[in-house]
Amino acid sequence: MHPDEAYACLVRSARADRMAQAYLLLGPPQEQGIPLAVRIEQALFCETRDGCGTCAACRRVAERVHPDAMWVEPQKRSRIISIDQIRGVCARMNQTAFAGGWKACVILGADRLGDAAANAFLKTLEEPPGRSVFFLLTDSVQGLLPTIRSRCQHVLLSETQARLQGEFRTALTGILTRFGTGGGVNGMVLAEKLAGLLKHMKAAAAAEVKEEKNEDELETGSETWDARVNARYREWRMLLMRAVLQWQRDLLLLTGGGGGDVLEFPECADALRAQAGTLTYRAALGRVRDAADMYRRMEQNLPEQAVLHAGLIGWSRFAGREA
Ligand SMILES: [Zn+2]
Repeated sequence: MHPDEAYACLVRSARADRMAQAYLLLGPPQEQGIPLAVRIEQALFCETRDGCGTCAACRRVAERVHPDAMWVEPQKRSRIISIDQIRGVCARMNQTAFAGGWKACVILGADRLGDAAANAFLKTLEEPPGRSVFFLLTDSVQGLLPTIRSRCQHVLLSETQARLQGEFRTALTGILTRFGTGGGVNGMVLAEKLAGLLKHMKAAAAAEVKEEKNEDELETGSETWDARVNARYREWRMLLMRAVLQWQRDLLLLTGGGGGDVLEFPECADALRAQAGTLTYRAALGRVRDAADMYRRMEQNLPEQAVLHAGLIGWSRFAGREA
């Protein structure tokens, strides 16, 4: 998950008061884990409540001197996080927050917890203090006790941009959550909603190319201009179609009894589970095939509307639980 996406997810959870007690941020700590942990803490403690980065609370978080935002890292010489460090921080997590809100603790190098420290930490995870959250940072998950690992929500960080992000992803998951269940009429609505999103993407692609225009004096409306807008748009369109396919794969996984921790859309786990509950395994499999077909046809540049309608109206035969 891209750090921006992870940030959006966690902030959403915090606002809905559905924060997990501990998150395992898996990825390069310096480049991704630490900046992400700081941003999330700023969102939790910010005076304006939106992680402005400039208020006194946000600055204290960034400087690691906020009294409710604790940091633990391996000791310089031993390269181990000691039991005393863990006891100290867990004791403070059990006290009332200074600012009366959240308490957070970032554990850097979580794979460097010694055995005694890990066991002490496990006790805290078993009886987590209220309104508190731990962020465990590491790029080596093997170094963590399985019992600790299993009590954390995993956030696999990656810089890869080759997936649907940001507003497009939010728009798509919104559409799939509302209209992704049935076939027939529902499939038609879904096709129209996706066509609407594609239209929006095309406009956004043009706007983005226009913004880059000055660099090489590209003439708006010229052939080169059109080609560039189209290339951008098609790239995004394939990301969208791939995401539609991944949604169906998530459904298939859940229908087949798979776990929720490997979902492509973990932020929509509840909606996915609800939809999976209305599908048989066979129906979910049929939809994955249809979504893959739609992907291929879009790749071949066949007319969008026709591809969407043909692909989605067919879902009526997969709607509902068959005998
Ligand atoms: Zn702030």
